[in-house]
Amino acid sequence: MHGTKTYLSETATRLKPSGIRRFFDLAASMEGVISLGVGEPDFITSWSVREACILSLEQGYTSYTANAGLLELRQEIAAYLSRKFQVQYAPETEIIVTVGASQALDLALRTIVNQGDEVIVVEPSFVSYGPLVELAGGVPVPLETRGADEFKIQPEQIESVITSRTKALMLCSPNNPTGTVLHKEELEAIARIVKKHDLLVISDEIYAELTYDEPYTSFPAIEDMRERTILVSGFSKGFAMTGWRLGFAAAPSTILQVMLKIHQYTMMCAPTMAQYAAIEALKHGEQDVEEMKKSYRRRRNYFVQSLNELGLRCHLPGGAFYAFPSIQSTGLTSEQFAEQLLLEERVAVVPGNVFGASGEGYIRCSYASSLEQLQEAIKRMRRFLSRL
Ligand code: PMP
Repeated sequence: MHGTKTYLSETATRLKPSGIRRFFDLAASMEGVISLGVGEPDFITSWSVREACILSLEQGYTSYTANAGLLELRQEIAAYLSRKFQVQYAPETEIIVTVGASQALDLALRTIVNQGDEVIVVEPSFVSYGPLVELAGGVPVPLETRGADEFKIQPEQIESVITSRTKALMLCSPNNPTGTVLHKEELEAIARIVKKHDLLVISDEIYAELTYDEPYTSFPAIEDMRERTILVSGFSKGFAMTGWRLGFAAAPSTILQVMLKIHQYTMMCAPTMAQYAAIEALKHGEQDVEEMKKSYRRRRNYFVQSLNELGLRCHLPGGAFYAFPSIQSTGLTSEQFAEQLLLEERVAVVPGNVFGASGEGYIRCSYASSLEQLQEAIKRMRRFLSRL
């Protein structure tokens, strides 16, 4: 650096480092840690999916694909969305294959946000939403949900944060970190406000495959919402494919074609071999997804019941693989709880405050761990709590 001049952009400098990282680094430096911290499946991608990738390499398919992704994959995505969620998108013009849902979120925001536009972020939320809004030049506006409501959005609350600059609402159901799933009627109530105030919705449905108690409702399936929604999803969670970096977005062509323009310049296309694997996942992966889902459901039931028995009040999360129990009865902050639990009992969880102010008083525990590990974690947590 020369004198006081800085080469860094103000926006990038302003971004807060991810609060999750600090705990990962600390946990990684210790031995014998049970990690309930990471947000990814504990399954390996199905063999048939890995095999499809290997076959594509054997056949020498190593070039770029079309910018929007292989047409065959987009056709499979369209068929999948129609079959599973009753939403219809044209594979040629309304679907784009991206580098994870992460890139789809980035593209969506950069496509719709003008400098200073406000985007409502329902909190507690996935840690990337706020920073992605800021990187797009927008202003994230938190909408706080409460444990007493099982972290469900109260529609009238949305109106209280809408201003003349509000452009969009970011929804995530099933939610990370709370596991909360919004039912059809709840989505309809949100839709009425979205329509009344002429907003767009970015609906992050990355956990849609992982719902345990009732059929899933996709936001664009709600009346009049398809035209106002950018649907974001991917293969990381439901298909246990985090490392493949493959996701997608679906939206009306007027929006999607602008997303494609940005994608063309910034990414060219998603990884070719991962795209071949994803075709197989959509064609023949349903049975494996069902098996994984059954296993998560069993673990959820055990883990959430055990947390409640420990006195850490926790609603039964309808989806994803996270439990978000209250630790308020301990008198500790969520940071203190997570740090002490890690140092004293070697169990890694994520403090709720990293997901927004309304996450304070809670911790996120991923139950995508073996039942034996979960049982051991509960044993250690019981010991920890008995000392407080
Ligand atoms: N959205 C949510 C809510 C997530 O939890 C994650 C992953 N943690 C993502 C998006 C990003 O997923 P991907 O691996 O597809 O980029």
